[in-house]
Amino acid sequence: MEIEIATIGGYEEVGRQMTAVRAGDDIVVFDMGLNLSKVLIHDNLRTEEMHSLDLIDMGAIPDDRILNELDGEVQAIVPTHGHLDHIGAISKLAHRYEAPIVASPFTLELVKEEIQDEGKFNVNNDLVEMEAGETMRIGDTGKLDLEFVNVTHSIIDAINPVLHTPEGAVVYGLDKRIDHTPVIGDPIDMDRFREIGREGPGVLCYIEDCTNAGKKGRTPSESVARRHLKDVIHSIDDYDGGVVATTFSSNIARVKSLVEFAYDIGRKPLLLGRYLEK
Ligand SMILES: [Zn+2]
Repeated sequence: MEIEIATIGGYEEVGRQMTAVRAGDDIVVFDMGLNLSKVLIHDNLRTEEMHSLDLIDMGAIPDDRILNELDGEVQAIVPTHGHLDHIGAISKLAHRYEAPIVASPFTLELVKEEIQDEGKFNVNNDLVEMEAGETMRIGDTGKLDLEFVNVTHSIIDAINPVLHTPEGAVVYGLDKRIDHTPVIGDPIDMDRFREIGREGPGVLCYIEDCTNAGKKGRTPSESVARRHLKDVIHSIDDYDGGVVATTFSSNIARVKSLVEFAYDIGRKPLLLGRYLEK
């Protein structure tokens, strides 16, 4: 079986992730993301009303026209987690493919929000929920399986998809922090990655791209950040004024810690901001 990998977006840049893997006649698309920096430089740009081609020309979303050159049918669109650089172009591109969007439960909820906010296109792709640890058959050959392996990241419910082919596994290893003691959810499933490396025909290709991946060292666990945060918030126990804390709205583990520690010191936590409200 011939395997072909198309690096459509997100390579040598931050944002607008998209990769297509063709195995025989079947294609699986990993991520359809937005490059937020290309959108934010324009004042009041309402991307909801914009056409895909204009956004492609701006460099805001992946140029998926390259897929015409791949000899196969898209069978699944698989966003790995809910960050906009991975799901932000789904509302602009997914309707062009007769394929379901397959994602973990939290990621799928965020995809639904993106589709609801879309003003230009009707995105009617089937939405299929799949949990980490589960596998689904892809295409009609009976030779391709898509597996979700649990990983830890600054957003909950992140997975690394693995496409099992007769030639070996294609592991799409994007965006993870190796966290053995996360604040929410299960630790990264290193056992399963180890097994995938040893079983069957082994790993044909491992694709990795992560912010600061080139830096030596490791990022501490979220539970370490939680300990520091607890120390800081408890140290202002006797202060009377308001306290402001900021975080990425999608960092649910951090929000959870902030809310809990606010209650610890007798405060009432208020969540402010468009995405936090979402
Ligand atoms: Zn991410």
